[in-house]
Amino acid sequence: MGRKKLNILMVTSELVPYAKAGGLADMVAALSAELSRLGHDVRVVVPRYYGIYTGGYERMREPLGVPVGFGEKWCSVYETRQNEEDGGARVYFLEHEGLFGRDGIYGYQDAQAFHDNMARFTLLSRGAFQLCKALEWTPHVMHAHDWPVALVPVYLRTWEKVGVFAETGSVLTIHNLGYQGIFPKDEIHLTQLSWQEFHGAGFEHHDELNLLKGGITSADILTTVSPTYAGEIQTSTDGEGLEGLLQSRESDLYGVLNGMDYREWSPRTDKHIPKPFSTDDISGKAEAKTALQRELGLEVRPEVPVIGIVSRLVEQKGFGALCGPTFGSLYQICNDLAVQVAILGTGERWCEDELRSLASKLPNLAVQVRFDNRLAHLIEAGSDFFLMPSAYEPCGLNQMYSMSYGTLPIVRRTGGLADTVDQYEQTTGQGTGFLFDDLTPGAIFDVVGWAVWTWYNRPEHIQMMRKTAMEKRFSWKDAAQRYVELYETAIEKRRNATTK
Ligand code: ADP
Repeated sequence: MGRKKLNILMVTSELVPYAKAGGLADMVAALSAELSRLGHDVRVVVPRYYGIYTGGYERMREPLGVPVGFGEKWCSVYETRQNEEDGGARVYFLEHEGLFGRDGIYGYQDAQAFHDNMARFTLLSRGAFQLCKALEWTPHVMHAHDWPVALVPVYLRTWEKVGVFAETGSVLTIHNLGYQGIFPKDEIHLTQLSWQEFHGAGFEHHDELNLLKGGITSADILTTVSPTYAGEIQTSTDGEGLEGLLQSRESDLYGVLNGMDYREWSPRTDKHIPKPFSTDDISGKAEAKTALQRELGLEVRPEVPVIGIVSRLVEQKGFGALCGPTFGSLYQICNDLAVQVAILGTGERWCEDELRSLASKLPNLAVQVRFDNRLAHLIEAGSDFFLMPSAYEPCGLNQMYSMSYGTLPIVRRTGGLADTVDQYEQTTGQGTGFLFDDLTPGAIFDVVGWAVWTWYNRPEHIQMMRKTAMEKRFSWKDAAQRYVELYETAIEKRRNATTK
C-alpha cells in the first residue's frame, strides 16, 4: 500500500555529524535519513554553531528575518544535504553571529548554560517557520525535539494558527524529561506571545517559564524514545513534576523505540577492532578482548570475564550506587569476584575522581576518563558483559551496541533498557542479558555476581545468549514507519481541529 508522500520538517538543536551533545543528535539524523529513504520530503533545520563549517554549502540569497523580542533578528541560511546513501534529506543551518556564533550548543561547559538560551532557541523555533515561508514550502508536519524547540507546537497554535501552516500537524519528542528549559517568566516577551497565550499554552510552572511544559500542552502528538519510558514519565517517580500533565495527554503519548546504526556498530565491519567477527566465526571477539586487556593494562586472561562501561559519568547513569564515595558496589565487585572491569567516560568531577582513586587500588579495574570513540568500540567488542545500572534511561544506545557484539548487557529494568534486553532464563539459557530492579549497591553486586556465576558455571548458556543477542535487530525502518503513522494522526487531529 503506497502512502502519501509527506513534507516533514525536523526542528532540532543537535544533528549528527554537525553538532552532538547526546543521543538526540543521532536519532534526528537517522530518522531523517530513513524517512527520506521511504520517499518523504524531509528537511531539517538546525543552528549554525561555530563548530559547523559551512564552506561549500549553498547560501540563500536573501537573509531571513525572524521576529524575536521587540524586533527582528537577521539570519543567513546555508543549505546542504545528507549523503545520498543516507536518503539525501535537506539540511538548513541558521546563522546568527550574536546568538549562535560561539562554540557549545547549550553552554560553554556541560554544567553552565548560556545566559541567553531563551533568545537563542526562540530564534531557532520561530526561524523554522520563516524558513518554510521563504522556501515557499509548507510542511504537513513539524517534528520538534526536546525543550529547545518546544515553542514550535506553541507557535502552530498561536502566531501561525491561520495562513499556510493552518493544517500543519505537530509532533514533539521527549528525549529526556530531566531537561525542561526553565527561564524567568518575563523572558516570554522574546517569543512575542501575550500573557494570555503564555497561560493558555501552559508555560507557567512554579512561577517560572517552562518551555517543555508549553510544548507538551500544545503538540498534537507526543512521543518518547521507548514505550516503557512513555509509561514511566506519567508516574511521580520519573515524571519530574510534569506527570499530571503527561497523564492528561496519555491518549496522545506514544513510545517509539529508537533503532541503531549497524553501519557504525557491527562486528562484521568495525574498523576499530583487530579482526571482524560474526555468529559464524566469533574468534575475532577473543582477539578484541586480548587487545582491550593489553591496552588498558589488565592481565591478559581469556578465562576471566571483562565487564565494560562506556558512559557519561553522572547520577542518571547509576554511578551513585556503583561508586558513591561512602558506599557503592564497584569496590566489592572487583575485590570479591573474579572479574575485570573496564570503564570509559567523562562527567561529574566527584565521579571521575572516585573512579580514578578506585582504579589506583584495584589491579582488575581500568578507568579512562576521556571521550574516545575508538576505545568505545573496542570496549563494546572486547568485553563479555556491559553494565548500565541507570536510574532512568529514555532509550539507551549502548545496550543495543553491546548486543550487536555479543556482549551481554547487565541493566536496570527501566525505560529503553527494559524494552530491549530480555532476561536470562536459567533453566533454558534463553534471553539476551541480566536485569535487576533496585538501584542499590547490593542489587548491583547481586546481579553482577549472577552474571559472573553464569559465566563460570553455564558457559553453554553464555554462548547461546551471545548468539541470540547478536541476531537481534533494532531497525530504524520499523521506527520510521511508526513515526509516519503518528505524523498522519497528528495531521488528522489538526485538520479536525481547524474544521470544527
Ligand atoms: P546518553 O545519550 O544518555 O549519554 P546513550 O547510551 O543513549 O546515552 O548514548 C551515549 C552515546 O555516547 C553512545 O554512543 C556512547 O558510546 C557514547 N559515549 C558516551 N561517553 C563516551 C566516551 N567517554 N567516549 C566515547 N563514547 C562515549
